[in-house]
Amino acid sequence: MPVPDTLLNYLDGDWETPAAELPDVISDANSGQCIARQRSASAGQIDDAIAAAQRVHGNGGWRELAAAARANSLLAIADNLFELADNIAEADAVTTGVPITQTRELARIPAAAFRRAAALTAEPTCINRHLNFEVGRLPLGPAVVIAPWNAPAGIASHKIASALAAGCPVLFKPSEWSPLSGQLIARAIDRADLPAGAFQLLHGAGETGSALTRDHRVAAVSFTGGLAAGRAVAAACARQMRPAQLELGGNNPLVMLPDANPDAVVAAIRTLLTTLNGQWCRALGRIIVPNSMLDQLLAMAAAALDTLRIGASMRDDTQLGPLAHRLHRDQVLAAVARYESLGGVAHRCGEPPALDGWFMQPTLVSGLGGDQALDEIFGPVATIHGYAGIEQAVALANAPPYGLAAYVFGKGKRALEVARRLEAGVVKVNLATLLGPHPDAPRPVWKLSGIGDEGARQTFEFFRGSRVIAVDGALHDYETG
Ligand code: NDP
Repeated sequence: MPVPDTLLNYLDGDWETPAAELPDVISDANSGQCIARQRSASAGQIDDAIAAAQRVHGNGGWRELAAAARANSLLAIADNLFELADNIAEADAVTTGVPITQTRELARIPAAAFRRAAALTAEPTCINRHLNFEVGRLPLGPAVVIAPWNAPAGIASHKIASALAAGCPVLFKPSEWSPLSGQLIARAIDRADLPAGAFQLLHGAGETGSALTRDHRVAAVSFTGGLAAGRAVAAACARQMRPAQLELGGNNPLVMLPDANPDAVVAAIRTLLTTLNGQWCRALGRIIVPNSMLDQLLAMAAAALDTLRIGASMRDDTQLGPLAHRLHRDQVLAAVARYESLGGVAHRCGEPPALDGWFMQPTLVSGLGGDQALDEIFGPVATIHGYAGIEQAVALANAPPYGLAAYVFGKGKRALEVARRLEAGVVKVNLATLLGPHPDAPRPVWKLSGIGDEGARQTFEFFRGSRVIAVDGALHDYETG
């Protein structure tokens, strides 16, 4: 199946055109060429979709299917996604600018997420039973899933699969900057013949997400995106007293200890700034190195970034692609210019290709105080700071208001001790990998990076709520009475 070039909602088992045209376009990040106009579901389409989700939840069409039947549906979706993996990789490479070598790896996540979720359908809904009471874990109801543009297929499929495994109907809104792989996920689900309304896709930008999260019929919202939209979602959920799982941004530190191998640190900097082109919530934000090594490390890192092959995302030999869309590229360039206006020195590395897409040079910025660079940039940009002692290194690492990821490079006990002092959900020691240590490891978020851990089990449980039934006497007497 080719990458879609026409946006379609998937509503109550049917495909239909999102009613409204939006002002922006989905572009090929390499050339800036328009692939399709962004479109948005109308208020009526959103209303119909929520009503369909509510209907299927109310009549038990999905949640009351036998666990084995739901598992089989999720496994069928996984098989369909496996077949579509090349198309998903292509769609995400073109729209996000992430090199195809990386999106091919990421395109394995959707099938794997549905397989893991299928296994979770076997989890009992009655988790604890006593003489006179039982504790159940039940699907909350219609679940809204909102995904960002940077790793669209992987992030969305983890949330969708978890909600479906828990028994919740899903209303999925992809980002309109990169909705094509989301539509492929919907194709894969459509072919698995779930009950109409169990999964729906609605296109649209922030207003569509906002309309979904405001609606009182929605029972849970799982959102990944930036802080501003996350706050809007949190406020909408607060009004409805509804659970929200929010995975937001980060300004993630790498702490180099005096005994760290400089080559390993430089390799990590290169990896962390080129993975997803630095458009990654756990990408590098600030590099913290001993004062005595600052100049050497900066020169080594700049030299390593200088040799990167910056090019079109569809080329197998590209190591750094363009940013996802023009607005975002301009925001990242503006952030670098702001650092310069504050006295920072920008070291722009590598040679962008002569293409019209949203390219930029990876950039290291030196000369700023730790409190002058607290925001998330979300591109191939990091600030570099020197420290005089471990206390200062830890303070610099913990200074940003975010708490998503952190990296420590150094030897033995001291590296672990420093890692244990960092305020972040995931701290990696002598590692700079995109994925976590294990598929079952949670992905916690601290501070402004969000609310609620993600993870195979954590996201599944997010979509379930507890219910206690207590009886006068013994449960057994009621069951047999
Ligand atoms: P945004 O916050 O702009 O958008 C995220 C999603 O929310 C998009 O689908 C967007 O629609 C939608 N949206 C926008 N405004 C609202 C609103 N008021 N109510 C409901 N939905 C809304 O983030 P980006 O897409 O720009 O993604 C980048 C951000 O995502 C970065 O800040 C990054 O840190 C974060 N991120 C976090 C991850 C994590 O696991 N913690 C992983 C990946 C990214 P549309 O785009 O169509 O306008």
